[in-house]
Amino acid sequence: MIVHLNGAWLPADEARVSVLDRGFIFGDGIYELVPVYAGRAFRLDEHLARLRNSLAEIRLDQAAHLCDWHAVVAGLIERNGGGDLSVYLQVTRGPARRDHAFPAHVKPTIFGMATPLVTPSPELVESGVAAITAVDYRWLRCNIKAISLLANVLLRQSAVDAGAAECILLRDGYLTEGAASNIFVVVDDLLLTPPKDHLILPGITYDLVLELARANGVPHEVREVSEGELRAAGEVIMTSSSREVLSVTSLDGMPVGNGRPGPVSRRLLGLYREFRTAFAHGGTGTPRSGTPS
Ligand code: PMP
Repeated sequence: MIVHLNGAWLPADEARVSVLDRGFIFGDGIYELVPVYAGRAFRLDEHLARLRNSLAEIRLDQAAHLCDWHAVVAGLIERNGGGDLSVYLQVTRGPARRDHAFPAHVKPTIFGMATPLVTPSPELVESGVAAITAVDYRWLRCNIKAISLLANVLLRQSAVDAGAAECILLRDGYLTEGAASNIFVVVDDLLLTPPKDHLILPGITYDLVLELARANGVPHEVREVSEGELRAAGEVIMTSSSREVLSVTSLDGMPVGNGRPGPVSRRLLGLYREFRTAFAHGGTGTPRSGTPS
Protein backbone atom coordinates (compact mmCIF):
# COMPACT_ATOMS: atom_id res chain seq x y z
CA MET A 1 0.00 0.00 0.00
CA ILE A 2 1.33 3.42 -0.98
CA VAL A 3 0.28 6.22 1.35
CA HIS A 4 0.45 10.01 1.22
CA LEU A 5 2.15 11.79 4.12
CA ASN A 6 2.74 15.56 4.04
CA GLY A 7 3.34 15.68 0.30
CA ALA A 8 5.40 12.47 0.07
CA TRP A 9 4.34 9.12 -1.41
CA LEU A 10 5.63 6.17 0.62
CA PRO A 11 5.04 2.48 1.28
CA ALA A 12 2.77 2.33 4.39
CA ASP A 13 5.43 0.68 6.55
CA GLU A 14 7.92 3.46 5.80
CA ALA A 15 5.60 6.36 6.68
CA ARG A 16 6.35 7.89 10.10
CA VAL A 17 4.68 10.52 12.28
CA SER A 18 5.98 12.05 15.51
CA VAL A 19 4.87 10.59 18.86
CA LEU A 20 4.15 14.22 19.79
CA ASP A 21 1.60 14.55 16.99
CA ARG A 22 -1.57 16.04 18.47
CA GLY A 23 -3.56 13.41 16.61
CA PHE A 24 -1.79 10.75 18.69
CA ILE A 25 -1.74 12.71 21.97
CA PHE A 26 -5.20 14.34 21.92
CA GLY A 27 -7.10 12.86 18.99
CA ASP A 28 -6.90 16.46 17.71
CA GLY A 29 -7.77 16.02 14.07
CA ILE A 30 -10.42 15.15 11.51
CA TYR A 31 -10.82 12.59 8.75
CA GLU A 32 -12.81 11.72 5.68
CA LEU A 33 -13.58 8.45 3.93
CA VAL A 34 -14.33 8.47 0.21
CA PRO A 35 -15.57 5.36 -1.61
CA VAL A 36 -14.04 4.76 -5.04
CA TYR A 37 -15.81 2.71 -7.73
CA ALA A 38 -13.92 1.56 -10.82
CA GLY A 39 -11.19 4.08 -10.05
CA ARG A 40 -13.63 7.04 -9.72
CA ALA A 41 -14.05 8.80 -6.37
CA PHE A 42 -17.79 8.85 -5.56
CA ARG A 43 -19.26 12.23 -4.54
CA LEU A 44 -15.75 13.61 -4.11
CA ASP A 45 -16.79 17.28 -4.04
CA GLU A 46 -19.28 16.55 -1.25
CA HIS A 47 -16.65 14.63 0.75
CA LEU A 48 -14.11 17.41 0.30
CA ALA A 49 -16.69 20.04 1.31
CA ARG A 50 -17.34 18.07 4.52
CA LEU A 51 -13.57 17.79 5.09
CA ARG A 52 -13.22 21.59 4.76
CA ASN A 53 -16.16 22.07 7.08
CA SER A 54 -14.66 19.72 9.71
CA LEU A 55 -11.37 21.65 9.45
CA ALA A 56 -13.20 24.96 9.91
CA GLU A 57 -15.11 23.57 12.93
CA ILE A 58 -11.83 22.66 14.68
CA ARG A 59 -10.22 25.99 13.65
CA LEU A 60 -7.70 24.36 11.33
CA ASP A 61 -9.03 25.98 8.13
CA GLN A 62 -5.55 26.70 6.82
CA ALA A 63 -4.86 22.98 6.36
CA ALA A 64 -7.47 22.85 3.60
CA HIS A 65 -5.11 24.90 1.40
CA LEU A 66 -1.92 22.98 2.15
CA CYS A 67 -2.46 20.42 -0.55
CA ASP A 68 -4.42 19.76 -3.70
CA TRP A 69 -6.98 17.27 -2.34
CA HIS A 70 -8.14 16.18 -5.79
CA ALA A 71 -4.51 15.35 -6.66
CA VAL A 72 -4.01 13.46 -3.38
CA VAL A 73 -7.13 11.36 -3.98
CA ALA A 74 -6.21 10.75 -7.63
CA GLY A 75 -2.65 9.82 -6.60
CA LEU A 76 -3.90 7.34 -3.98
CA ILE A 77 -6.23 5.70 -6.49
CA GLU A 78 -3.56 5.47 -9.19
CA ARG A 79 -0.79 4.21 -6.89
CA ASN A 80 -3.01 1.59 -5.28
CA GLY A 81 -4.28 -0.12 -8.40
CA GLY A 82 -7.59 1.66 -9.00
CA GLY A 83 -10.78 -0.42 -8.91
CA ASP A 84 -13.04 -0.25 -5.85
CA LEU A 85 -11.25 1.43 -2.96
CA SER A 86 -11.84 3.21 0.27
CA VAL A 87 -9.76 6.41 0.39
CA TYR A 88 -9.05 7.61 3.92
CA LEU A 89 -7.85 11.20 4.47
CA GLN A 90 -6.76 12.55 7.84
CA VAL A 91 -5.54 15.95 9.03
CA THR A 92 -4.23 16.57 12.56
CA ARG A 93 -2.97 19.71 14.26
CA GLY A 94 0.53 18.23 13.93
CA PRO A 95 3.44 17.75 16.32
CA ALA A 96 3.91 20.13 19.28
CA ARG A 97 4.96 20.16 22.94
CA ARG A 98 2.04 18.67 24.88
CA ASP A 99 -0.39 21.41 25.86
CA HIS A 100 -4.15 21.31 25.39
CA ALA A 101 -4.25 24.80 23.86
CA PHE A 102 -3.20 25.19 20.22
CA PRO A 103 0.56 25.58 19.58
CA ALA A 104 1.73 29.01 18.36
CA HIS A 105 3.00 27.51 15.11
CA VAL A 106 0.85 24.75 13.72
CA LYS A 107 2.28 22.34 11.18
CA PRO A 108 -0.64 20.07 10.28
CA THR A 109 -0.03 16.42 9.50
CA ILE A 110 -1.77 15.38 6.29
CA PHE A 111 -2.18 11.68 5.71
CA GLY A 112 -3.97 9.60 3.09
CA MET A 113 -4.28 5.89 2.35
CA ALA A 114 -6.38 3.64 0.13
CA THR A 115 -7.58 0.15 1.02
CA PRO A 116 -9.89 -2.24 -0.84
CA LEU A 117 -13.54 -1.17 -0.48
CA VAL A 118 -15.47 -3.84 1.41
CA THR A 119 -19.23 -3.53 0.89
CA PRO A 120 -21.86 -5.88 2.40
CA SER A 121 -22.04 -9.36 0.87
CA PRO A 122 -25.14 -10.29 -1.18
CA GLU A 123 -26.15 -12.66 1.66
CA LEU A 124 -26.04 -9.83 4.19
CA VAL A 125 -27.98 -7.53 1.89
CA GLU A 126 -30.57 -10.27 1.42
CA SER A 127 -30.97 -11.12 5.13
CA GLY A 128 -30.40 -7.67 6.63
CA VAL A 129 -28.40 -7.22 9.83
CA ALA A 130 -28.98 -7.10 13.55
CA ALA A 131 -28.57 -3.90 15.58
CA ILE A 132 -28.72 -3.04 19.25
CA THR A 133 -29.60 0.30 20.81
CA ALA A 134 -27.66 2.34 23.37
CA VAL A 135 -27.73 5.73 24.99
CA ASP A 136 -25.85 8.22 22.83
CA TYR A 137 -23.17 9.32 25.29
CA ARG A 138 -21.02 11.07 22.67
CA TRP A 139 -20.30 14.79 22.75
CA LEU A 140 -22.48 17.56 21.30
CA ARG A 141 -20.45 18.24 18.15
CA CYS A 142 -21.08 15.01 16.25
CA ASN A 143 -21.31 16.99 12.99
CA ILE A 144 -17.49 17.17 13.03
CA LYS A 145 -15.85 14.10 11.51
CA ALA A 146 -13.30 13.99 14.33
CA ILE A 147 -10.66 11.27 14.70
CA SER A 148 -11.34 11.21 18.46
CA LEU A 149 -13.77 8.31 18.15
CA LEU A 150 -13.51 6.58 21.53
CA ALA A 151 -17.25 6.69 22.23
CA ASN A 152 -18.05 5.39 18.73
CA VAL A 153 -15.43 2.65 19.13
CA LEU A 154 -16.91 1.49 22.46
CA LEU A 155 -20.47 1.65 21.12
CA ARG A 156 -19.67 -0.28 17.93
CA GLN A 157 -17.81 -2.88 19.99
CA SER A 158 -20.85 -3.33 22.24
CA ALA A 159 -22.78 -4.21 19.06
CA VAL A 160 -20.11 -6.70 17.96
CA ASP A 161 -20.10 -8.25 21.47
CA ALA A 162 -23.87 -8.74 21.11
CA GLY A 163 -23.43 -10.37 17.69
CA ALA A 164 -24.89 -7.29 15.98
CA ALA A 165 -23.65 -5.16 13.08
CA GLU A 166 -24.48 -1.72 14.45
CA CYS A 167 -25.33 0.17 17.61
CA ILE A 168 -28.22 2.61 17.09
CA LEU A 169 -28.06 5.62 19.37
CA LEU A 170 -30.81 7.36 21.34
CA ARG A 171 -30.43 10.74 22.99
CA ASP A 172 -33.17 12.04 25.31
CA GLY A 173 -35.70 9.62 23.82
CA TYR A 174 -34.88 10.43 20.18
CA LEU A 175 -32.95 8.62 17.46
CA THR A 176 -29.65 10.25 16.49
CA GLU A 177 -27.64 7.85 14.27
CA GLY A 178 -25.57 4.66 14.37
CA ALA A 179 -22.08 4.37 15.88
CA ALA A 180 -20.73 4.62 12.31
CA SER A 181 -23.80 5.14 10.10
CA ASN A 182 -26.93 7.24 9.64
CA ILE A 183 -30.30 5.67 10.35
CA PHE A 184 -33.63 5.86 8.49
CA VAL A 185 -36.92 4.28 9.59
CA VAL A 186 -40.13 3.55 7.74
CA VAL A 187 -43.35 4.33 9.62
CA ASP A 188 -46.65 3.85 7.77
CA ASP A 189 -44.85 3.80 4.38
CA LEU A 190 -43.14 7.11 5.18
CA LEU A 191 -39.34 7.21 5.18
CA LEU A 192 -38.11 9.22 8.18
CA THR A 193 -34.68 10.37 9.29
CA PRO A 194 -33.50 12.93 11.85
CA PRO A 195 -32.36 16.35 10.58
CA LYS A 196 -28.69 17.22 10.13
CA ASP A 197 -27.61 19.13 13.23
CA HIS A 198 -24.84 18.98 15.82
CA LEU A 199 -26.07 15.55 17.05
CA ILE A 200 -25.28 13.58 13.89
CA LEU A 201 -22.65 13.33 11.20
CA PRO A 202 -23.97 14.83 7.95
CA GLY A 203 -23.63 11.62 5.97
CA ILE A 204 -22.87 11.78 2.27
CA THR A 205 -24.90 8.58 1.80
CA TYR A 206 -27.72 10.10 3.90
CA ASP A 207 -27.88 13.03 1.46
CA LEU A 208 -27.81 10.73 -1.55
CA VAL A 209 -30.58 8.50 -0.17
CA LEU A 210 -32.75 11.59 0.37
CA GLU A 211 -31.94 12.83 -3.16
CA LEU A 212 -32.85 9.42 -4.59
CA ALA A 213 -36.08 9.35 -2.56
CA ARG A 214 -36.96 12.83 -3.85
CA ALA A 215 -36.12 12.04 -7.48
CA ASN A 216 -38.11 8.80 -7.42
CA GLY A 217 -41.21 9.79 -5.50
CA VAL A 218 -40.45 7.82 -2.33
CA PRO A 219 -42.51 9.53 0.41
CA HIS A 220 -40.11 10.88 3.01
CA GLU A 221 -39.77 13.42 5.76
CA VAL A 222 -36.78 14.77 7.67
CA ARG A 223 -37.78 15.25 11.29
CA GLU A 224 -37.05 14.02 14.78
CA VAL A 225 -37.76 10.30 15.26
CA SER A 226 -38.78 9.16 18.73
CA GLU A 227 -37.57 5.97 20.39
CA GLY A 228 -41.16 4.68 20.19
CA GLU A 229 -41.23 5.25 16.41
CA LEU A 230 -37.88 3.48 16.02
CA ARG A 231 -39.08 0.47 17.99
CA ALA A 232 -42.42 0.29 16.15
CA ALA A 233 -40.96 0.97 12.68
CA GLY A 234 -41.78 -1.47 9.90
CA GLU A 235 -38.30 -0.97 8.46
CA VAL A 236 -34.99 0.33 9.77
CA ILE A 237 -32.15 1.19 7.36
CA MET A 238 -28.52 2.10 8.00
CA THR A 239 -26.44 4.07 5.50
CA SER A 240 -22.73 4.78 5.15
CA SER A 241 -20.14 5.03 2.41
CA SER A 242 -18.88 1.49 3.05
CA ARG A 243 -22.12 -0.21 4.13
CA GLU A 244 -24.11 1.65 1.49
CA VAL A 245 -27.83 1.04 2.16
CA LEU A 246 -28.33 -1.88 4.52
CA SER A 247 -31.55 -3.12 6.07
CA VAL A 248 -31.65 -3.62 9.86
CA THR A 249 -33.93 -6.61 10.38
CA SER A 250 -33.56 -7.12 14.11
CA LEU A 251 -33.35 -4.55 16.90
CA ASP A 252 -32.33 -5.53 20.43
CA GLY A 253 -33.17 -9.15 19.56
CA MET A 254 -36.70 -8.35 18.26
CA PRO A 255 -37.56 -8.64 14.55
CA VAL A 256 -38.08 -5.35 12.68
CA GLY A 257 -41.33 -5.73 10.71
CA ASN A 258 -41.45 -9.32 9.52
CA GLY A 259 -37.71 -9.75 10.07
CA ARG A 260 -36.86 -9.42 6.34
CA PRO A 261 -35.72 -6.35 4.39
CA GLY A 262 -38.91 -4.42 3.58
CA PRO A 263 -40.07 -2.83 0.30
CA VAL A 264 -38.69 0.65 0.99
CA SER A 265 -35.27 -0.74 1.99
CA ARG A 266 -35.18 -2.85 -1.17
CA ARG A 267 -36.25 0.07 -3.35
CA LEU A 268 -33.63 2.42 -1.90
CA LEU A 269 -30.88 -0.18 -2.06
CA GLY A 270 -31.81 -0.87 -5.71
CA LEU A 271 -31.75 2.85 -6.54
CA TYR A 272 -28.45 3.33 -4.73
CA ARG A 273 -26.74 0.37 -6.40
CA GLU A 274 -28.04 1.39 -9.81
CA PHE A 275 -26.85 4.93 -9.25
CA ARG A 276 -23.34 4.07 -8.13
CA THR A 277 -23.00 1.47 -10.90
CA ALA A 278 -23.97 4.18 -13.41
CA PHE A 279 -21.37 6.42 -11.77
CA ALA A 280 -18.71 3.71 -12.13
CA HIS A 281 -19.54 3.68 -15.85
CA GLY A 282 -19.14 7.44 -16.22
CA GLY A 283 -22.34 8.84 -14.66
CA THR A 284 -22.42 12.27 -13.06
CA GLY A 285 -23.05 11.42 -9.42
CA THR A 286 -26.16 13.62 -9.28
CA PRO A 287 -29.60 11.96 -9.40
CA ARG A 288 -32.05 13.23 -11.95
CA SER A 289 -35.77 13.22 -11.47
CA GLY A 290 -37.30 9.98 -12.63
CA THR A 291 -34.08 7.93 -12.46
CA PRO A 292 -35.34 4.57 -13.73
CA SER A 293 -35.83 2.10 -10.90
N1 PMP B 1 -22.44 8.69 11.16
C1 PMP B 1 -21.27 8.32 11.67
C2 PMP B 1 -21.03 8.49 13.14
C3 PMP B 1 -20.27 7.76 10.84
O1 PMP B 1 -19.09 7.39 11.34
C4 PMP B 1 -20.55 7.57 9.46
C5 PMP B 1 -19.55 6.95 8.54
N2 PMP B 1 -18.41 7.73 8.42
C6 PMP B 1 -21.80 7.99 8.96
C7 PMP B 1 -22.73 8.55 9.85
C8 PMP B 1 -22.14 7.86 7.50
O2 PMP B 1 -21.49 8.85 6.74
P1 PMP B 1 -21.17 8.63 5.18
O3 PMP B 1 -22.44 8.27 4.52
O4 PMP B 1 -20.64 9.95 4.75
O5 PMP B 1 -20.17 7.52 5.10
